[in-house]
Amino acid sequence: AKPLVALVGRPNVGKSTLFNRLVGEPLAIVDGVPGTTRDRLIAEAEWTGHPFLVVDTGGIDPRVGGERPLSVGSAEYIEQIRAQAEMAIEDADVVLFLVDASSGVTPADMEVANLLRRKQRIIEGKPHPPVLLVVNKADHESLRQQAAQFYELGLGEPHAISALHGLGIGDLLDEVVAHL
Ligand code: GDP
Ligand code: MG
Repeated sequence: AKPLVALVGRPNVGKSTLFNRLVGEPLAIVDGVPGTTRDRLIAEAEWTGHPFLVVDTGGIDPRVGGERPLSVGSAEYIEQIRAQAEMAIEDADVVLFLVDASSGVTPADMEVANLLRRKQRIIEGKPHPPVLLVVNKADHESLRQQAAQFYELGLGEPHAISALHGLGIGDLLDEVVAHL
């Protein structure tokens, strides 16, 4: 089976935009409204001769079933993000944890970071699966400079990208396939 690369992070950080860019087709629904990806989407991708599967772990749609929207920071909102991250870390060979350069570190990012670190297993002295910290929406130099503040999440070096404009994607994929 092909290795699995999972995208996690709170709503609106750009998971579906990155998914579409990695897969090369607009399969995931991208929207300014947080949580518009209905289900887990899986598609094939490839980089420098390394095939892998990408999973967009959206799954949060406050508008489905006529439920009231989940307010940012509510217990339910955090719970859904946690469930999603937990699923990803159990199945994935590499986890891409997305955050947003333009918003800085948020409490939900901290939640996800803590959960990911707690759920990693130590295999042969290394945390598994590897988590790459991806600082999206780094569309220009001043936003790229915001990436350093995410060291605070305790997940190592932040990788600045712009999924929307296709910046930093090759370097990120080099890093991904080095872990496959
Ligand atoms: P998701 O909820 O994490 O799947 O986020 P989406 O992929 O749906 O994106 C949420 C919003 O952020 C959309 O309006 C996207 O167009 C926007 N977005 C995604 N990536 C970037 C980026 O690199 N730069 C900017 N400026 N906006 C982005
Ligand atoms: Mg989405």
